[in-house]
Order: sequence, then structure tokens, then C-alpha cells
Amino acid sequence: MEELLLSDELKMLRKTVRSFTREYVVPFEQDAGSTIEQLPTPVVNELQMKAKERGLWLFGTRSEWGGAGLSYFQQVVVLEEVVQHRFGLQQPGAGAFGEDLPCFLRECMPELFEKYVKPSIQSGNGCYIALWEPEESNNLDNLTCYAEKKNGKWFVRGKKSYVSNVEHADFGILLVQSITETGERKPTLFLLDRKDPIGKREQVLLDVQLSHELFFEQLELEDTRRIGGVGDGVQLLEEWLTSSQVLMSARYLGIAQKALEIGIDYASLRITRGKPLSEYPTIRTMFAVSEAELQAARFSVWNAALKMDQKRKDRDHAAKIAKLNASETAAKVVDRVLQIHGGAGFTRDVPLERWYKELRISRLHFQSSETLHESIVQYLLEK
Ligand SMILES: Cc1cc2nc3c(=O)[nH]c(=O)nc-3n(C[C@H](O)[C@H](O)[C@H](O)COP(=O)(O)OP(=O)(O)OC[C@H]3O[C@@H](n4cnc5c(N)ncnc54)[C@H](O)[C@@H]3O)c2cc1C
Repeated sequence: MEELLLSDELKMLRKTVRSFTREYVVPFEQDAGSTIEQLPTPVVNELQMKAKERGLWLFGTRSEWGGAGLSYFQQVVVLEEVVQHRFGLQQPGAGAFGEDLPCFLRECMPELFEKYVKPSIQSGNGCYIALWEPEESNNLDNLTCYAEKKNGKWFVRGKKSYVSNVEHADFGILLVQSITETGERKPTLFLLDRKDPIGKREQVLLDVQLSHELFFEQLELEDTRRIGGVGDGVQLLEEWLTSSQVLMSARYLGIAQKALEIGIDYASLRITRGKPLSEYPTIRTMFAVSEAELQAARFSVWNAALKMDQKRKDRDHAAKIAKLNASETAAKVVDRVLQIHGGAGFTRDVPLERWYKELRISRLHFQSSETLHESIVQYLLEK
């Protein structure tokens, strides 16, 4: 199947990003030690320069904006490789390839594009996206955070929770229920400046992931900060939400693939009762099941990515299946490899304890497995 789907060009690209990650990222990360959360800025700058020279900058961003302009399928193949290091799940390639910006930013007014989007394409810091709310997660039809228009300005009030990348992002994107001067309520997107008066509270999740609660109590925005039309918010987010699930799924698989390799190496070396762990049938079964499950999950991710590229009608359904399969499978694989490592797996000498926690979170991130089940069955009933 892999032979059929991967062109020679894509195989070459995969090889290039694999050696980039192994040659440049992993050694820096190993030198930095197991407790460090990101590489020092000069090191990241050097990696970014190397990546740009090789045309490996912003994989998913259009080439006319300065990105690599890869298709979704190409991106999932590449992403699976570049996450294969200690903090690769959250910072693929330790930030070497930059953070993509959502495609709906094409709807920005030209002055916003010049001021925020263009510089961010250069810096690669990306943006944060504040959607979900504490009261009604995963339900964008029921937003309580609002922006009310009075005398030409939008007065934003409310709260958003578990927002990622607030600390690094060049700017933010906010989805609110806009209330127009005629009293109509419509979901709308706005761009947030780093200097806007927004309350922030840090939340550390399972001591591996930083997120923020955002409070809007005195924010006033000019209409020029609007992205797209009033009421276009959810529709503009649709493609981004679907593609993000597929791209995140590829990252989960990359981590699980690396964990499996680490597990196999360890089991060949670790001797108990006179022979390597890899000779015990119970251990061998764990590897065989992991490989089979990973391959099945990978094909569901590839399937979703191809459907995204072809704009198939059922792409959102395929993306949900991919996210469900990839997050659940990756969590199981890392759990097994931890078990095979015994006590050694729980130390920071190997990244398994970190990946175990990150993948535990992945089953809730974006859409939880339970809400994915709900949406998948809903699709089947309505088909
Ligand atoms: C690491 C991380 C990063 C995140 N990043 C961002 C971000 O950048 N921007 C952003 O806007 N949001 C972000 N989120 C928010 C995220 O999408 C929500 O946390 C997630 O949707 C779950 O919402 P909740 O935590 O409020 O759980 P709840 O909605 O309270 O759910 C609690 C439990 O009930 C289950 N449940 C809920 N509804 C149903 C249902 N209808 N049927 C069956 N079971 C149900 C859930 O599956 C879950 O197990 C992030 C979350 C995490 C964990």
C-alpha cells in the first residue's frame, strides 16, 4: 500500500526530513538534557536557517506566502517523521520548520495581513486560536463569549479555556458570538494583538503541556480586526478544524512509531532470567499487536489526508476516524512500551513517561474520543 501511495519525490522528502531531525535536532536535544522544555533561541534560529535553506519552512503554508505549500497527504507523511524526538509532539523538529498559520487568514483585511500574517510567516511562531469555552466545549453553536457592537467598536466579554501556544504566538484568533447593532447574534472571528488587554491564567496539564485560560473584561476591538464577514466564523474554521485533527493524528503516530523502535531496541538488550526480553512470547505479542494497530491507524490518517486534498464530501468524517484511531492507538503503544521497560520507563532517561502523559491528553485534545464517537455515529445515522 505504501509503495502505491508514496511517490519517489515524497519518499525523498521523507528521507530528507528524517535525516534533518536525526542529525540536527536529536543531538541538540540530547545535549540539552531531559528536563529542558525547548531548545535555546540561538539553537532554534540556527535550525530554522538550515530548514529554510532546504525549502523545509512552514510545510502547510501556501508557497505564495513563503511556505513549502505541501498537500495534506505530504504533510502527514512528513510530520510523522519530524516529531520523532523528546518534545516533538508539541514542537515538531524543536521549532525548526516553523508553525503554520491557518488558511482562513486569507480572509483578513490587507492591513491585518501586512501587520500580523506576513511577519509571522517569517518568524514561524504561529498564532493561538481560542475557540472552546469552559461551559460548552466541542459545541461551537453555543458560544457564550461575545463581542457586542456599539458606536462602531466591538466590546468583547467572556472566557476561553485550554488555549495552546499563547506564550509563543505572534498573535491570537478569537471566535465569539458577535452581537450586531441590530441585535443579531452570529459567530465571528477576530484577530488579537499581543498587547490587547486580555487576562491570562496559566494551566499546566499533567506537567507536560502548557495552556491558558483567557479572560475578556475590557477588550474593545476596531472592526478592522474582524477576519471574514460577520457570521462567517464557524464556516471559516471548518477546514482548519478538520485538517488540524488529521495533522495532529500524524504527530501521534510518529511518537508511537518512535516508542515502538525504542521498545524493540530495549527488549533486545535487556536480559532477564538469562535471555533477552524480546524472546518472551508475551513481549513479542505486544510488539506485533502494536505494529498491526499502528499500520491500521496510519492508513486511516492517510485516507483522511487524501480526502482533504480531494475535498471529498466525507473528509470531516474521515478526519474524525483518523483522530480517534491515531490517538487511541498511540496511547496504547506507548503504554505497552512503558510496561516492557519496567521501572526504567518511568524515569526521564527515556522520553516514554513524557509521551505517555502527552498521549493521554491527546484523547481529549480538540475533540475527545467520546464526542468523536458521537459525531461518527451521527454521520452513519444521517447517511
Ligand atoms: C492539551 C489541550 C490543548 C488544547 N488546546 C486548545 C486550543 O488551542 N484552543 C481551544 O480553543 N481549545 C483547546 N483545548 C480545549 C479542548 O478542545 C477541550 O478541552 C476539549 O474539547 C474537552 O473539553 P472539556 O475539557 O471542557 O471537557 P468536557 O466537555 O467537560 O467533557 C468531559 C468528559 O465528558 C465527555 N463528554 C462531553 N460531551 C459529551 C457528549 N456529548 N457525549 C459523550 N461524552 C461527552 C468528554 O468526552 C469528556 O470525557 C485544548 C485542550 C487540551 C487538553
